[in-house]
Formats: sequence, C-alpha cells, structure tokens
Amino acid sequence: MSLTEEDERWMRRAIEIARSKGSHPSTSPLGSVIVLDGEEIAGERNQTHELPDATAHAEMMAIRRACEGTGELELRGATLYSTLQPCGMCTMASIWSKVGRVVYGAGRADVHEMYFEARHVDTLGFIADAYRDDIVIEGGCLREECATLYYPPGADLPQEEQANL
Ligand SMILES: [Zn+2]
Repeated sequence: MSLTEEDERWMRRAIEIARSKGSHPSTSPLGSVIVLDGEEIAGERNQTHELPDATAHAEMMAIRRACEGTGELELRGATLYSTLQPCGMCTMASIWSKVGRVVYGAGRADVHEMYFEARHVDTLGFIADAYRDDIVIEGGCLREECATLYYPPGADLPQEEQANL
C-alpha cells in the first residue's frame, strides 16, 4: 500500500489536533489519529506535561482512547496516523494493539535529534522487523507541513527543551 489522498486528509486532522494548544515547538505539538473503516475512533495530542505522564505520547493516548471507545483490546484493521515518526515505545504499542498500519509525517531526519531516544538506532524499523511482519509502516505523509511543528535538525536548543538528555 502507499500513501493516498485519504491519508493526507487524516494527517491534516492529526496536525490540527497537534496544534490544539499552540503550534510552537515548545508546546510539543504532536498529534495522533486512529482511523477504522473510514472513521476516526481516537484523536489525541501529546499530554506528557499536562498529566504529567512520561508515557503520554500522542500515539499512546490515541491507542488508549481507541480501545476504551471500541471496547476492544485489539485494533485490527485500523490505521494510526502520527505527525512525527513514532518512538520505540509507541511502535511497540502499535504492535501490541494490532493496528494494521502506521502512517507518520516527519521522520527522524526532518527534525531535531532530541526527539528520538537513541542517537544511532532507528527503533521503528528494528522493532517492526523484530516482532511483526504484517504491520505496514509508511512515513513522509505531509512531511514538510509536519516538520514545521518541530525544532529543525541541528537547532541550538536550551537544555530544558531537550527531552532526551
Ligand atoms: Zn512515542
């Protein structure tokens, strides 16, 4: 499968959710939408600071809402959209929740290195390969638009803005 106009439509929705508390990178505008049979079953923003909960990434929150909303443990056949390439935790959560497809916007190379947990291991590809051969992961959906939500590669950031130090 490859990216479609429908994917771009859902990614626009994820961007809208990401921006719901502002679009400056300091507001951590990360958004995730889960779609099943053409319908949004969850749409969540990153909530790590608000809760506070270090695991409250947008994708984790969306998976929780989708399971609560459908009353199902498994989200088979669903597509998870994320404005930024999912981290290792969220990739694993996608696998456990059995979503069929993950579509993300900006990738590792499009944003500041502090958004990713490891400096040289691409956890997404490695986890997907290790655990499932039936999950489809596609990046680059509205890549430029998504990348503008985040600090750019190599940006000189104050230490308190760097989540992975
Ligand atoms: Zn994550």
